[in-house]
Amino acid sequence: MASYISDELIDRISERADIVEIISHYLPLKKAGKNYKALCPFHQEKTPSFMVSPEKQLFHCFGCGAGGNVFNFVMKWEKISFPEAVKMIGEKVGISVAVINEEAGKGVLKEELYRTNERVADLFQQELKRMVSAKKYLKQRGFIPEVIDKFRVGWAPTSGDFLKMVRAKGISLENLKKLSLLIPSQKGDGWYAWFRQRIIFPIFTPEGRICGFGGRILDNGLPKYLNSSSSLLFDKSRILYGLNFSKEAIRQEEEVILVEGYTDVMTLHQRGIKNVVASLGTSLTSSQARLIKRYTGHVFIAYDQDKAGISATLRGIDLLLEANLEIRIISMPRGVDPADLVNREGEGSFLKRKDEALAYFDYRLNLEIQKRPSLRREDKIEIIEEVF
Ligand SMILES: [Zn+2]
Repeated sequence: MASYISDELIDRISERADIVEIISHYLPLKKAGKNYKALCPFHQEKTPSFMVSPEKQLFHCFGCGAGGNVFNFVMKWEKISFPEAVKMIGEKVGISVAVINEEAGKGVLKEELYRTNERVADLFQQELKRMVSAKKYLKQRGFIPEVIDKFRVGWAPTSGDFLKMVRAKGISLENLKKLSLLIPSQKGDGWYAWFRQRIIFPIFTPEGRICGFGGRILDNGLPKYLNSSSSLLFDKSRILYGLNFSKEAIRQEEEVILVEGYTDVMTLHQRGIKNVVASLGTSLTSSQARLIKRYTGHVFIAYDQDKAGISATLRGIDLLLEANLEIRIISMPRGVDPADLVNREGEGSFLKRKDEALAYFDYRLNLEIQKRPSLRREDKIEIIEEVF
C-alpha cells in the first residue's frame, strides 16, 4: 500500500515545526546575524558553512550544497523516507500522523514487542529476588538495591523454567521468537531460551523502552556476556546503554563519558556521575557516534587500557572524529575498568583522572613513547612522524 499523508496535514506540521528548533535537537547552532550556523553534519569541515535561516525556514551548506526545508533535513540525517520524516516531526510538534502504509503495521507489531519485552523484564526481575548467588554477586560489585531496581537488573532462569513461566503468564511465544528470546533447538524438536542462568541487564532506547537484553554469566562459562540478537526492536550498533538515564545529565554537563560495560554505567551512576553511556562491547560504531552528537560535542573515553581496550579506544577515536566530536581520553590503569576503580578508590579518584584526561594527540604520543624503552633523538623524531 502506498503511503498517504494529506497536504493539509503536511502544511499544519510545517507551520508548527520551527527549523531552528528542530535542527538544534541534532546539532549545536550558533547565531550569526539573522541566521544560525554550524559545522555541516553532512560533510567534514573545520569552519562552519552550514547555515539555517529562520526567516526562510530553510537550511543550506555552502560547502557541500546540501539544503532544503525541515523535512529534507530530517530525511537526510535520519536516512528515512518523506512520510517517516513528516511523522517524526509531527510527533515532535504534537500533531500525530496516521500514516497509512506498511509502516503502520510494523508500528503495531513493534508496540506489541515492546510490551512483551516489558513483561519478560518483570519476570527476570522477579527471578532475581529468589536467586541468592546472583544477588550476592551484585552486592559484591557494590550495587545498592535502588540502583539494581532502577536499571531493572534481573535473572534469567533455566530454559525449562523460563518456558513454564512465560506459558503460565500467557506471554506470546510467537513474540518471544520474533525477539529471539526463544531459539529453535538444533535438533529441531522444540524451542529453548536464549538467556539461561545469567544476570540480565535490560537495554533501553533513549526514550526508556526496553529494546533488548544483555546477560552476564556468573561462573567462568563462555561467553561471559551475551546480548539479544538483532530484532525489529534491537540493533546493537545503534544503541548506547544508559542513554535513557543519562541524557539530561549529558545535556547539562555538555559532555559524556563513554565506558565499555553495563556495570560501569551503573556504578558511576550510583556514585552520582550520571553523564555516562556504554558502547555495549568494545567496538563503537559510527551510528553510536552520531547518536552521541545529538546530545553533546564532547566525549571522554574511559575504556580499560589493556591491549583490547587500547585498540578499541583508537578505533573509537577515529569514528568520533569523523562525527566532529571533541575527544579526551581518561587514563585508566591497565586491566581496571571505571567500576573497579571507583569501588576501590572512590569517585574522587575517577574524577581526578577525568580532569587530567589527555587530548587525542597527547594520548597517541604517550602510546608511542611507551612502546620504546630507550629514547634517543632519532626515536623522538620517529614518534612525532608516526603520530602525525
Ligand atoms: Zn556540507
